[in-house]
Amino acid sequence: MQLITAAATHRGAIRLSIAPWPAPEQIRPHAAQTMNKAKRQEIFERLRAADPTPTTELNFSTPFELLVAVILSAQATDKGVNKATARLFPVANTPQAIRDLGVEGLKGYIKTIGLFNSKAENIIKTCAMLIDRHAGQVPADRAALEALPGVGRKTANVVLNTAFGEPTMAVDTHIFRVANRTGIAPGRNVIEVEKRLLRLVPKEFMVDAHHWLILHGRYTCVARKPRCAACLIEDLCEYRHKTA
Ligand code: SF4
Repeated sequence: MQLITAAATHRGAIRLSIAPWPAPEQIRPHAAQTMNKAKRQEIFERLRAADPTPTTELNFSTPFELLVAVILSAQATDKGVNKATARLFPVANTPQAIRDLGVEGLKGYIKTIGLFNSKAENIIKTCAMLIDRHAGQVPADRAALEALPGVGRKTANVVLNTAFGEPTMAVDTHIFRVANRTGIAPGRNVIEVEKRLLRLVPKEFMVDAHHWLILHGRYTCVARKPRCAACLIEDLCEYRHKTA
């Protein structure tokens, strides 16, 4: 099953995204089904014990490199993005250097990634805005980030969290699935899950919670057949269709 979402960009264009989506029975519709506080605390304690310093699997060394990598990662794998940026960043890893490549020059480095034409155009425009409005720096501000071409709420959340250490929650398909299945923060759409996670995740785990949930969804609580027998929170998870 796939979900196609449409979001208006700051320039009024419609951006479509397609993602594998949980089956309806994986979505808990009512807040009343949210798990209790003690279980949530225990889940994050276990996730932290297993991986004390989680981070993104995208390779980057500056906030700008992270921003470019996240823009490139829409509907692409982190592995594919890392391959492209391993060629791009040694040549150009600042807004000025990438703008100097121009759209066609940039395409040469990212053409293995889906939607590379529009991504190249957005990145060049973003570089120009960073130079003109932010002295070539990535702003640590949601509104300023979301004003950049190719940057939506999710990308802004990732940059604010991973580059600037802010307790944001970039809900992708993995986090959406894990939050609903486990009962940590069920919701009918990504905004509902994001708001509930921000309210319910204990403060001490907030900065890293986004990465723990993504990695758990990517490697253990996978979409088609979750690996419940190998799951470190199996006894706490409230999913009704666990696998043996
Ligand atoms: S027990 Fe299964 S459904 Fe629950 S979090 Fe673990 S892998 Fe996912």
